[in-house]
Amino acid sequence: MKPTPQHNAPEDAKARKAVKPVICYPVDTLPLPDMAAYTSARETLVQIDEVIVRPRDASVFKVPAGHFFRIVSTEGPQVGDLNLWNAHDLSERFYSGKTRALHGTHLGTGDRMWSSFPHMRPMATITCDTLDWYGFDEFGGGVHDVIGTRCDPYTGRLLQGKDYHNCCHSNLIRALAEETGLTTAEAEVYVHDVLNVFMCTGFTLDTHQYFMKASPVRPGDFLEFFAEIDLLGGLSACPGGDCGAEHSSDTAPCYPLRVEIFRPAEELLAGWSSPEPSSYSRTHGR
Ligand SMILES: [Zn+2]
Repeated sequence: MKPTPQHNAPEDAKARKAVKPVICYPVDTLPLPDMAAYTSARETLVQIDEVIVRPRDASVFKVPAGHFFRIVSTEGPQVGDLNLWNAHDLSERFYSGKTRALHGTHLGTGDRMWSSFPHMRPMATITCDTLDWYGFDEFGGGVHDVIGTRCDPYTGRLLQGKDYHNCCHSNLIRALAEETGLTTAEAEVYVHDVLNVFMCTGFTLDTHQYFMKASPVRPGDFLEFFAEIDLLGGLSACPGGDCGAEHSSDTAPCYPLRVEIFRPAEELLAGWSSPEPSSYSRTHGR
């Protein structure tokens, strides 16, 4: 939020502001996923597992590399906060900021969820989004953002002076701790900025503040991913429900989410292998 200026604009202010922007990270050279192969593989999917995420709580799930998973809206409009880890190394986790820099503020089919340094490789590729019709609305809002973080008890204490324990940050910590045997404090280190599945968000056009509005998701909608590496996922059913009014409270209607895991016919991905971690030397100029 920019304050009221205290300095006069220079004479050439108009010209300086008229400079055209350039894309920070042109993606022309970004290795593209073989979407045709994924599309063919999707035709052969057999569901092998299912995990229910209770409202105002989180669950973890495992997806072997080369498998697909869906996050499905079940009983009512509900936002999900998604964390991804390398199933064999929790220090490799989803990197929301870099994913945003590469793919923009909101993700869609063909976009990838990139992992943290020094790995920086695709962890998952989005293969189907039943909300892709939404695009961007008149307020600049879209679904599945990588601009928010996750609702958490620290910001609640800062802004409202109260503690709320069923926010997505805490939900993900409890679920990860239960799965791994880590203590709550140990697990917290691994919980990271999320993909806000189904959440409808943007930046206000005047002050560029982060906003949310009621998610357009309805029961039956899903967001589908291809697991590029062995994944441990964490999904929280946000206490904000459809996030149309508030979060970090027990007042919003909240619904379960379902995670479905699918195996494709093996021969269709015969030539496919997990992407390697970044080949950067890691010498950092020394
Ligand atoms: Zn939340």
